[in-house]
Amino acid sequence: MIVKNINSIKHFNLHLHTNVSDGRLTPEEVVNRAQEIGLDLISITDHDNADAYNLLPQEIAPLRIIPGMEISSLYQDSDVHILGLGLNLHSQSLLDMIEMYLVGRKERAIKMIQKLAELGMPINLDEVIAVAGSRGLIVRPHIAQVLLSHGYVHSKSEAFEKYIGDNGPAYVHKPEFSVQEAIQVIHEADGFAIIAHPGDLANPAYVDDIIKMGIDGLEVWHPDHNLSQIAYFTDLCKNLGLYMTGGSDFHGDNERYNLFEEVPASETILESVNKLWREYKCRGN
Ligand SMILES: [Zn+2]
Ligand SMILES: [Zn+2]
Repeated sequence: MIVKNINSIKHFNLHLHTNVSDGRLTPEEVVNRAQEIGLDLISITDHDNADAYNLLPQEIAPLRIIPGMEISSLYQDSDVHILGLGLNLHSQSLLDMIEMYLVGRKERAIKMIQKLAELGMPINLDEVIAVAGSRGLIVRPHIAQVLLSHGYVHSKSEAFEKYIGDNGPAYVHKPEFSVQEAIQVIHEADGFAIIAHPGDLANPAYVDDIIKMGIDGLEVWHPDHNLSQIAYFTDLCKNLGLYMTGGSDFHGDNERYNLFEEVPASETILESVNKLWREYKCRGN
């Protein structure tokens, strides 16, 4: 009897950004690079947006892609990123959420531009939109880029440190759904809701709170996690029967998150990713 190897996925990375949000590479370049390094499975998980999936090359085999998104949400006034994996991108709830974020981020940019003008650094919205690209999902690095091009700062990181970082004088909170709403939208789109980089949460106790809201898994491997966090989250998932995923959060070669490689996952995580993929395929995708 031939025993088929149940773990058909060996090399994966389930957290990659493109220039549809704040990454550097186009969706096609991300796919090409994943193929070059021999990945079996990836997810492109842009912030609050899934346009990358309209821009993929026709032929991607043998690479497999599980549709994903990294959704911004709020819990106890702090930011929580939830990965939606295996999403039905035609889900009306999901499309409504994407639209709300698109509009909300533009309104936020307008408010930030007003604050920057008051600080003596006039820029205009069209410049920011030009950097953001045709769909115009505006994220703070786009504003930082325009500040840099005007010579108001010497680097994008200086723009964050002095003006538009979370405690900066030109910062405006982006409009956000609650964590519960984000999980609900992901589930309505037949996806799996995974806490992204849970080790970065403002309070470690939030992980348990958010799990109770019906989360499906944790991003156990992430470049921000040290070995003891990886071990801790692995145990937590095992005990609670949650999925374990991993991704490098790649944004670009010269960005803070610059790893584009397979996740160095344990057998336990690898098995869980295979289970998630099989479950996704079982859902009729
Ligand atoms: Zn994130
Ligand atoms: Zn990310």
